[in-house]
Amino acid sequence: MSDDCLFCKIAAGDITAKIVHQDDSVVAFEDINPQAPHHVVIIPQEHIATVNDLQSEHAAMIGKLVATATSIAADRGFADQGYRLVMNCNAEGGQTVFHVHLHLLGGRSLTWPPG
Ligand code: 5GP
Ligand code: ZN
Repeated sequence: MSDDCLFCKIAAGDITAKIVHQDDSVVAFEDINPQAPHHVVIIPQEHIATVNDLQSEHAAMIGKLVATATSIAADRGFADQGYRLVMNCNAEGGQTVFHVHLHLLGGRSLTWPPG
């Protein structure tokens, strides 16, 4: 828990979010500014600032982030149509909240390359 981290506060319930899933290792919630009909943010309970800070000990947690995203996509019925998983890192990657997170974007046809 980092005292000045927005996503730690969401995980702790100190800031309200529309929680989609929560367990001992991850929390999934609706993005406040959705970029697609389905836009869920999946975070580890543990505070880690960027993907540059990930170590081998975090491998299972990263797998859990992805498994949570694919499970939500399946539950919501857009897994077969397709979707996008995104992790932004630092300034040029477009990261604005410095607590590792995986974006799940689905429900529309997404273009490539991203902006
Ligand atoms: P980043 O730009 O760091 O990859 O993604 C951060 C995401 O967090 C953005 O998509 C942004 O809309 C979302 N976000 C920022 N503040 C809040 C908030 O207070 N509540 C929720 N639910 N999402 C937020
Ligand atoms: Zn945090």
